[in-house]
Amino acid sequence: MAEHNCIFCKIIQGEIPSYTLYEDDLFKMILDIQPASKGHMLILPKRHAQNLLDLGEKEEKQLLSLAKKAGKQAMLSLGANGFHVLQNNGEAAGQTVLHFHLHIIPRYDGDDLSALQWKPLAFPLETFQNLVSELSIPLL
Ligand SMILES: [Zn+2]
Repeated sequence: MAEHNCIFCKIIQGEIPSYTLYEDDLFKMILDIQPASKGHMLILPKRHAQNLLDLGEKEEKQLLSLAKKAGKQAMLSLGANGFHVLQNNGEAAGQTVLHFHLHIIPRYDGDDLSALQWKPLAFPLETFQNLVSELSIPLL
């Protein structure tokens, strides 16, 4: 189920080399070659899924365990003091490769990695109340 011209499908199939950290039947974990910090990892589903909405139930269940394992390992092995779990869906959200990928970005005390910060918007209370009604997220 590889997508033609998808760089992550090519990495998964071994057509493009990668620094592989972990692999099982559903996922491959690699080092990001344009890292935001030392040990920046990507978790990729082996099946071409464009974004979070395309993941299947088995993939969803395994993903968070892998993220946890990767973050913990960065702290144990690299001395990271924390880590981000980051994932972009759609080009509007900054997704540049349209094959789902979860970033694990280790953070180190004083690393000055400011790209992941934002300036909080000043919404009036009414806006928050309206958002709660508009979003109305159903129970699982
Ligand atoms: Zn792909």
